Amino acid sequence: MTHAAKTGRVYLIGAGPGDPGLITVKGREALGEASVVVYDYLANRGLLGYVRPDAELIYVGKKGGGPGGAVHEMEQDDINALLAEKALAGHVVARLKGGDPFVFGRGGEEALHLAERGIEFEVVPGVTAAIAAAAYAGIPVTHRGISASLMILTGHEDPTKSEGPAGSNVDWSKVATGAGTLAVYMGVRNLPRLVESIIAGGRPSTTPVAVISWGTCPRQRVVTGTLADIAEHIRTAGIQPPAITIIGEVIALRDRLAWFEKLPLLGKRIVVTRAREQASTLARELSRLGAEVIEFPTIRIEPLSGDRLRELDRAIGEIARYRWIIFTSVNAVNTFFDRLNALGKDARSLASCSICAIGPATAEALREKRLVADLVPEKFVAEAIVDAFAKAGGIAGARILLPRALVARDVLPDSLRELGAEVDIVPVYETVPKTDHPEDVLELVTRGEFDVITFTSSSAVRNFAEIIGVERAREICSRARCASIGPITSQTARELGIPIAVEAAEYTIDGLVKALVEKLGGAHEARERKNTEH
Ligand code: SAH
Repeated sequence: MTHAAKTGRVYLIGAGPGDPGLITVKGREALGEASVVVYDYLANRGLLGYVRPDAELIYVGKKGGGPGGAVHEMEQDDINALLAEKALAGHVVARLKGGDPFVFGRGGEEALHLAERGIEFEVVPGVTAAIAAAAYAGIPVTHRGISASLMILTGHEDPTKSEGPAGSNVDWSKVATGAGTLAVYMGVRNLPRLVESIIAGGRPSTTPVAVISWGTCPRQRVVTGTLADIAEHIRTAGIQPPAITIIGEVIALRDRLAWFEKLPLLGKRIVVTRAREQASTLARELSRLGAEVIEFPTIRIEPLSGDRLRELDRAIGEIARYRWIIFTSVNAVNTFFDRLNALGKDARSLASCSICAIGPATAEALREKRLVADLVPEKFVAEAIVDAFAKAGGIAGARILLPRALVARDVLPDSLRELGAEVDIVPVYETVPKTDHPEDVLELVTRGEFDVITFTSSSAVRNFAEIIGVERAREICSRARCASIGPITSQTARELGIPIAVEAAEYTIDGLVKALVEKLGGAHEARERKNTEH
């Protein structure tokens, strides 16, 4: 924004109900544009990753929960004033609210406050909790032949109290008639009185009810029952806000449609120690399977610079002399090509070389550079490459370039040399320990408050032990389950006294995910029972 002083405005953005994937494209873009972000308790923190690094973040709290349970960190009037003040100062303000800003979100009040002051604003709707939580619980809120309406209500008010100002109270005797679906927000604490009023209003006491807490999140829980017994069920299950209550015959469809609770890793808290540059595929895949992923990168990839690039520059200068280039990691591919480009060259320089990728992820990184690997060994350890070369016609006398990490095992070059090849090992990057973790994440990991911790390289294990202390690492890894990508990483862990409970059969990210599903997915049925307490 070049004319910030003239273009201050406010986006009232719906963050969606919890799953960070449920923010809209427009909401995400507005977040990325903002210089000030004002956010709530129910807006998923992960969404702050879309915010510009220089943006000011302001938490205004609001922990819902109805009578007695409300923790307001900032009064609504102060929030209104804050939005206006920041916009008038020329900021683009993102007001991030859970669910939809205009559904029990007090977004209307904020918008009115801005409108009265002539401050520009836009409303970006969000996926509201009732619809999203119902969907994740396998409940279509309307269904042909079962329910043709959905009524959204607040359960915050005490239904037995006398009328408040016109229009502010729910008239339960009217609500309860008919057969449409009811979705009650903020109703957990009032539930016993609420169901009574609905029954008194004429709904049969056998009407099905589902209470969904933390809908769309890895800790989603669903308790089902009827108007007659649901209050008792949620009391014994210990359901706490935020929770939404869905009432109506559509709940019967849940038996066949509950897809989310079937995800094999649902609710598992899994720590990913990979470098942030590489963590995304693993993290994405684990969350897709229902896990709550805690990113705790223990290494950082750092391309070499200055003098330390001398060998690489020399190799690139005479690249045509190599018969093979072997890439043993995605990092090697990326840092190698970055340097190649920095030297004013491109992939054409490699025209006379054959290319080997150590595994599918490395081959994919090459494909992103529009290069197809000539050789991808079936198994993904250095030893397997040697076999593949032997099969590919041998490499006696061949010159091979091996761009890789500054510190790495010598098994591969040694074996290639035994086959008669001339191998040039050229360092292109190094992995350095990462230490600047957010306080809360560091604490959670140090206390061992997770189900599984994953290691995808020996250096990740070593750095982990260094960051939290080897004694502590041993302790929490014996309590929690420790998962390794393959035998080399496992061996490093064991040498440090860290037990490995799960090891991938195929030494890839996919292989690791598969092993975790096999190991933890067995708990699925038990969990399904737990998630459907009644
Ligand atoms: N603007 C929000 C609602 C805010 S009121 C929206 O459109 O969804 C807060 C209430 O929303 C909570 O008390 C609860 O009833 C409901 N809620 C919000 N997030 C929820 C979630 N993930 N699961 C279940 N209910 C949720």
